Amino acid sequence: KLSVKKITKSFEENKVLEELSFHVNEGEFVSILGPSGSGKSTLFHLIGGLYTPDSGDIWMDGERINGQRGSISYTPQSSSLLPWRTVLSNILLGGEIVGQKNEPEALRMIEKAGLKGYEHSYPYELSGGMKQRVAFIRSLLSPQSLICLDEPFSALDEFTRLEMQNWLLSIWEEYKRSILLVTHNIEEALYLSDRIIVLSGKPAKVKKEFIVPFPRPRQESIV
Ligand code: ATP
Ligand code: MG
Repeated sequence: KLSVKKITKSFEENKVLEELSFHVNEGEFVSILGPSGSGKSTLFHLIGGLYTPDSGDIWMDGERINGQRGSISYTPQSSSLLPWRTVLSNILLGGEIVGQKNEPEALRMIEKAGLKGYEHSYPYELSGGMKQRVAFIRSLLSPQSLICLDEPFSALDEFTRLEMQNWLLSIWEEYKRSILLVTHNIEEALYLSDRIIVLSGKPAKVKKEFIVPFPRPRQESIV
């Protein structure tokens, strides 16, 4: 379980987040929804330990992780694949950082993602959607229980987006991981998540928090 407690973050005079609190339960799919510039990526950098909050605390499974990397799996907004590594080696790197290797499972996931034959290809040889799938596999195979995804679908066309969203949902259901997704797409948040946290204002605060009524409005039949 992730608990964010009253975190505040400023960049010099620019106060981006103020006393922000929320939590993500085990196995939950939570979306953080907010307009561009509201501080969503900053929040993820804080959770991922790339930044340290000015005040407040971030707890993961009972451990205080302020400024500490490696406790969660974090996939940044822009492509995070290493261009000089192959698909397989990019995926295995996610586990390597924390000292784990899981090659048979990685190969199984690559096949499941429709990327069989691309194991030894380099990122520049893949389409945007394929690269995104590789980044997903990497985060799903990491040993951390919480996966944080920063606008993973925003660069994709509608068809690829829907395909990737459904793929993420099926994988999430199979692996029973907790997912925290950042997006400015309201429909996407409604479609994917159990619970939505809406940020707004400057500095950003939690404006609203609500549970998405179950079952989710599946769109698989559209395309
Ligand atoms: P988007 O939806 O466009 O990705 P966002 O909600 O992720 O936006 P952030 O990237 O977190 O927004 O930026 C929030 C604010 O923090 C902006 O005003 C930005 O200029 C500022 N900011 C973010 N990172 C830094 C940094 N490293 N140094 C200084 N200011 C920063
Ligand atoms: Mg962002």
